[in-house]
Amino acid sequence: MSSSRRDEPLRDLALAHALRTAGPHPVRLRSGLVDRLTVAQTLLPRAFRFLVIAGHRAPAPCPHVAGHATGGAADLTLHVTGEPEPALWSATPPPLWPTAEHALRSMGMVGGDRWWHWSFGDDRWSAGTGAPAPLYDVIP
Ligand SMILES: [Zn+2]
Repeated sequence: MSSSRRDEPLRDLALAHALRTAGPHPVRLRSGLVDRLTVAQTLLPRAFRFLVIAGHRAPAPCPHVAGHATGGAADLTLHVTGEPEPALWSATPPPLWPTAEHALRSMGMVGGDRWWHWSFGDDRWSAGTGAPAPLYDVIP
């Protein structure tokens, strides 16, 4: 665990062209997550892409969103090219989700209480992997 990893910048997914985003706000994640999601997406069947709905959120307006304040958590679902964007926050994940989960886990990511919440480097990740500490600090 290097100190440089803790200093990874947030990257705007609008500039990471491989990943789709949804919603009215820019989605920003630590560069380590952007890289992991980009690689995990290559493990999906060709027509499927991740649709990232939320990334970093400032801790002040959203104190309850554990992980998101570090830039190390993403809320995401799957989008099939050519089809309408899926309903967000549905109770059940989309049909191919087990494949997506496998791809995300293969990149060292950890799932959360909700099927759409995945993290790397935050406190949930360190608890789930046995890492001695989170990699990322909260970004105000
Ligand atoms: Zn979340």
